[in-house]
Amino acid sequence: RVRTRFAPSPTGFIHLGNIRSALYPWAFARATGGDFILRIEDTDVQRSSQAAVDVILDGLQWLGMVPDEGPFYQMQRMDRYRAALADLQAAGHVYPCYMGVEELDALRARQLADKEKPRYDGTWRPEDGKSLPPVPAGVQPVLRFRNPQGGVVAWDDKVKGRVEIRNDELDDLVIARPDGTPTYNFCVVVDDIDMRITHVIRGDDHVNNTPRQINIFRALGKEPPVYAHLPTVLDEHGEKMSKRNGAKPVTHYRDEGYLPDALLNYLARLGWSHGDDEIFSREQLLCWFDLDHLGRSAAQFDEAKLRWVNAQHLKAMADDALAALLAPQLQQQGVSAQALTDGRLPRICALFKDRCDTTLALANWAHVFYGEVAPAQAERAQHVTEDIAPALDALADALTACAWDRQSIGAAFKQVLAAQDLKMPRLAMPARVLTVGTAHTPSVDAVLELVGREKVVARLRNR
Ligand code: GLU
Repeated sequence: RVRTRFAPSPTGFIHLGNIRSALYPWAFARATGGDFILRIEDTDVQRSSQAAVDVILDGLQWLGMVPDEGPFYQMQRMDRYRAALADLQAAGHVYPCYMGVEELDALRARQLADKEKPRYDGTWRPEDGKSLPPVPAGVQPVLRFRNPQGGVVAWDDKVKGRVEIRNDELDDLVIARPDGTPTYNFCVVVDDIDMRITHVIRGDDHVNNTPRQINIFRALGKEPPVYAHLPTVLDEHGEKMSKRNGAKPVTHYRDEGYLPDALLNYLARLGWSHGDDEIFSREQLLCWFDLDHLGRSAAQFDEAKLRWVNAQHLKAMADDALAALLAPQLQQQGVSAQALTDGRLPRICALFKDRCDTTLALANWAHVFYGEVAPAQAERAQHVTEDIAPALDALADALTACAWDRQSIGAAFKQVLAAQDLKMPRLAMPARVLTVGTAHTPSVDAVLELVGREKVVARLRNR
């Protein structure tokens, strides 16, 4: 059974690049009938925050990427890491190292001066027939992992293909600090073992950790999972997407009126493809997703494209579903629940969804129907001129008397146009500006019908 995980560090608000790192393991688990596990890697206590955890949980919940297990918190698993460390030590894969910071710095400086890659030189690594330096008094050692010597660590990466690293290039990693707390790479391996992860799908900024982690897996007597290292997501300036470079938290896109399915669709395409399909539903994604069509090159985030994808999803949504989505949003913005039960909302959605690329834009239109209207000044000045006043009064009269449906409203317009010898736009434009605030609307009779007789007549008169 496939088991994948998303393992964010709550050291900043997760952005869309991070969400893509959650999307792929989630979609792969769903596509294969497996499990998706959420693990919060909060061991960097200084930089972790509850607020960042909340954005992770809210973001995943909003997007419907619900974990089957978790969230697990690494800080709550310290005992388990210590126990695993003791096992590793008992099996002889760990040794204490007393080299102090200054000594390490000096070593590093020497190696750099010799144009060598800085690495620990194995001073404290016990070997047969080798004598170790005397243990300094009062120094707490770090624990180092006894990395295998010779040979290669290799894996078949689902994105990068075969990767081989010579063990000689890997030095003996610190896996516990002087106070005994285990370090990052060790915790990750213990977690991936305990959580029985079969596929590690993560950003390729972790690819250098992988050979080290594989060696730790084997030292613990386990075979490593399958790895897929995803290429970076670049921001609009071509830099690695990061909070520091101005990437917005995922919740920003919720607040801006993006649809979860559209966001998933867009992010899925940022590094994975299914033929030429650009627009697909959540169901299609979860049916199609695989690890054989992951892209190898960095993908660039493009907000305009995301908006376009969102617009396509908005358009494709059933009016009732869209109305159901919009209703709580409108209530939050002050529209009464009672008003929203009058059946107009799905029809408003039907009329305006083609013109909107976010639900926020659609909600702005809806307010015109449930609240007050504030005509755009420039459009008012252009269209609502003195000479058209008599026609607007006549229209208000005709609309007071007629039946209230699209056809009758259209007939009322025609009647006034004929009586005043005007062309349709001359009357329809100011009528739109006054009743819905702008001249740029769908067909005037359809719009007016939805505004409602009382409001239409009052708005036409109070100009
Ligand atoms: N916590 C790491 C990060 O947020 C991910 C570690 C992993 O996926 O192995 O970048």
